[in-house]
Order: sequence, then structure tokens, then C-alpha cells
Amino acid sequence: MKILVVGGAGYIGSHMVLMLSDQGNSVVVLDDLSSGQAEAVLGANFVHGGIENTALLDRLFAEKKFDGVMHFASFIQVGESVQQPAKYYRNNVVNTINLLDAMVRHGVRNFIFSSTAAIFGQPDYTPIDEAHPKQPINPYGHSKSMVEQVLHDYDLAYGLKSVCLRYFNAAGADPEGRIGERHNPETHLIPLLLQTAAGRREYAQVFGRDYDTPDGTCIRDYIHIVDLCAAHSLALADLARGSESAAYNLGNGNGFSVRQVIDAVREVTNKPIPVVDAPRRAGDPARLVADSTLARSKLGWSPVYADLHKIVAHAWHWEKKHTGL
Ligand code: UDP
Repeated sequence: MKILVVGGAGYIGSHMVLMLSDQGNSVVVLDDLSSGQAEAVLGANFVHGGIENTALLDRLFAEKKFDGVMHFASFIQVGESVQQPAKYYRNNVVNTINLLDAMVRHGVRNFIFSSTAAIFGQPDYTPIDEAHPKQPINPYGHSKSMVEQVLHDYDLAYGLKSVCLRYFNAAGADPEGRIGERHNPETHLIPLLLQTAAGRREYAQVFGRDYDTPDGTCIRDYIHIVDLCAAHSLALADLARGSESAAYNLGNGNGFSVRQVIDAVREVTNKPIPVVDAPRRAGDPARLVADSTLARSKLGWSPVYADLHKIVAHAWHWEKKHTGL
């Protein structure tokens, strides 16, 4: 297939590009490099630019008859979204609509959207299935939920078919170590712990030890980046076969506490990793775990790297290579 990957230079996008090109697809990456890295794009044609640029989109869609679009280009920092909602609504919502309108103009019907567990807000129950009410508690979550609504309406009005994939905690790296996770600033637990193991930070922080969980730290559903990308690939193939629009929650189904993650990182790296206690982070629910039954039954998806140690080992492999250890 001919696939446009928007945001293909970022963490999840670049792993997706690698998988698509390994599968023999023809891939074009469009990325403005506001947070991604051009050198992370392997096996695709790279176009530097943003989806706010209508002329550029029209040119790209006219040149290549894409079979589908995958969209990973969004801002993802919850705290920043509270401080600067305009930045989030403009990029994550307005610019996405610009991309969708270009697809409609050019008759490209298949769209895979990076959504998030943040659309559910504070969970009413866990594991969280697709029937859980959407009640985001910050502009980031709202921006993603709004696009899900737009996609629903664009399907009804214009026949644009989409799959929304709600990620829980994406983690890990390419098992061969070709690419990995690199955010700036880094805010995610596993890379922060690995940077501490690699000596790039003095210590890591634990945001709250007084949650209502067995060890008092927050529980999250860490899903290997390769498993996450496999779901995208299956979702696009499903749309290409003529299936209806859908939305799936993607996680391992296994929750791990911050404490358990720290233990796993210590075991994998064999480093002591100093940690200090810090206050709770605003808006962090105690427990976020996905119920991915629907993705398994409808897409035939099945995570192969559910083991936390495997996820951490692949991320550590990348971190060592990246740091030159
Ligand atoms: N966390 C932590 N210390 C850090 C970063 C994160 O204790 O330096 C916790 C955070 O409160 C959450 C979990 O680790 O409970 C995962 O956070 P992350 O930012 O990786 O992903 P999120 O769940 O926010 O998408």
C-alpha cells in the first residue's frame, strides 16, 4: 500500500514507518520536526512540513495516490496543554481538520488516528473498555476526544473511514535497536529511569506513594511500541478491506505500578537507580488499565511483548546505544 505517515519522525510514528516499510509498503513521512528527528525516519521518503500547509497537502495528495493516512503529529504534554490550550487545540484539532479536509478533497478514505486513554479522564472503572464514558480532564484529552467526534461526523457526511486507537502507555523500542524513544523534554517514566541508569540524570522521581493501590504508586498499562504499531497495521488493512470505522483501546491488559517499573529497570540494567519521592502529579488517576478485548477479537491483534522486562530491555538497548555506553 501507499501510506502517508504524518508525524513519522516522532517516537511512535518512526516505529510505525519502520514496520510499514519492513512489510513492503511505500511510505511517505510528513513531519515538521517540532519534536521528531529526521534521522529516525528509516525506509521512507521524508517531507519536511506541517499539516497546516494546505498547498503542501494538496501537492502531496495529488502526486501520490495514497491508500491511507496515519496521523501521529500532535502535542502530548498534559501540563503544557493546561497552560497553553490554544497551542493544543490549534495543532491537535484545527490542523487535523485541515488534513482530513485534504483527504476528502482527494478521495483518500482510510485514516488511522493516534488517540489516547486521556479521553476517558478519571476512570469510573478499570480495565477501561470502549464503552467507558469519555470525560477528559485536560485540554490534551479534550483535543483528542474532539477529533474522535469529528471523525465520526466526517464518516457520516463524507464517507471518510477511520480507526481511533487509544494508547495507554507506549513504551519500549525497536527490538533491533535501530530507533527508540527520545522526547525533549522527556517526561515519561521508563526513559527517565533509563537515563538515570545511564548516568544522564542523578535520580528519578516517584510522583506519589499514597495512591489507593497495593504499593501506593500509580498503576499503568505499558504496551510495547511494536505491539502498538502492529495494531495500526491491522487496523489499516481492515479499513482497506472495506470495514466500518471503529475505535479500540490498546494496552497489555496488565497493569504495573511505578514501583514495579523501577524494580524491573533495576533488574534489567543492573544499576541501583536512585529515586526520590515527589508530590502527586496533577490529574494522575491511580490506575489506568485497558481492556483490549475488542481489538483482539475484531483485528486479530495479540501483543507479543507483554512482559515488562522485555519492554524495558529493548528500551535499555536503545538508551545504551544512544548514550554511547
Ligand atoms: N511518573 C513518575 N515519575 C516520573 C514520571 C512519571 O512517578 O518521573 C509516574 C506518573 O505519575 C504515572 C506513571 O509514572 O503514574 C507513568 O507516567 P508517564 O508520564 O510515563 O505516562 P502517562 O501515564 O502520564 O501517560
